[in-house]
Amino acid sequence: MDPVEKKASPGDQGRHCELRCPHCGREFEAFLVERVDGSRSPELKSRLLRNELNRMTCPQCNYLFLVESELLYRDLDRGLIIYLMPGAGERWREAENKVKSLLVNYLAEFGGAAKPLPEVQLVFSRAELMERICMIDKGYELLAVEYIKYLIYTRNAGRLNPRSKRLLFNAEDSDERTLWFVIQDIATHRLEGVLQFEHQAYRAICETFLQEPHARMLRGLFSGPVINARLQVLADEESDRQPEGKPQSLGAGAVDDGNKSSD
Ligand SMILES: [Zn+2]
Repeated sequence: MDPVEKKASPGDQGRHCELRCPHCGREFEAFLVERVDGSRSPELKSRLLRNELNRMTCPQCNYLFLVESELLYRDLDRGLIIYLMPGAGERWREAENKVKSLLVNYLAEFGGAAKPLPEVQLVFSRAELMERICMIDKGYELLAVEYIKYLIYTRNAGRLNPRSKRLLFNAEDSDERTLWFVIQDIATHRLEGVLQFEHQAYRAICETFLQEPHARMLRGLFSGPVINARLQVLADEESDRQPEGKPQSLGAGAVDDGNKSSD
């Protein structure tokens, strides 16, 4: 497995670095992929979606492990950049600055002539990055899907705790009749169950949100670069607890997330 990392990755897609085996402590050099261009490197993209990217094998004890590091996913055809900052919920400011520097770098690459600017989204776990790429590839509306998650979290109060359970949309298995969601325990990463949602209801949500004032409401709920129903629910809870009822930025929820999430 390991040598594949080096062969398949030209220099601009990552860097060589020293890694330490979490099992035996042996240090070794490896190539870490830091950048995946969805349309130009389909092979890297498919490894990312199989969760095999930056999977290392220790040369001493053969221990297999995933290196959780920052990763930039770019889809130029769709004008989209998704940046993965593993467990960075607690580093909200840093994440925001990252988005700014990504756009500056992007502009530099095109001699400042890139327009329109790409949309930048931030995600804090690999599962979320993989979910999002599949969702976009299959043509699902991200905001509508996150809104459905928001409904599931808020209407099933107590049954699905946003602090400990993550909802992932399974675009792969969803079809014209049913949208499938998977419940993942954040601490253990274990998949614990599935939830379904009628495709017809999803279409109705998509159509409703094409019209004002609904569209504005949806954009207000998920204003980006973090478009995440779970963090939004946590931010809402946080602002409910504020004595003045002052609206809280999404950052407050993200603070909570980082503490709980280990991926
Ligand atoms: Zn080892």
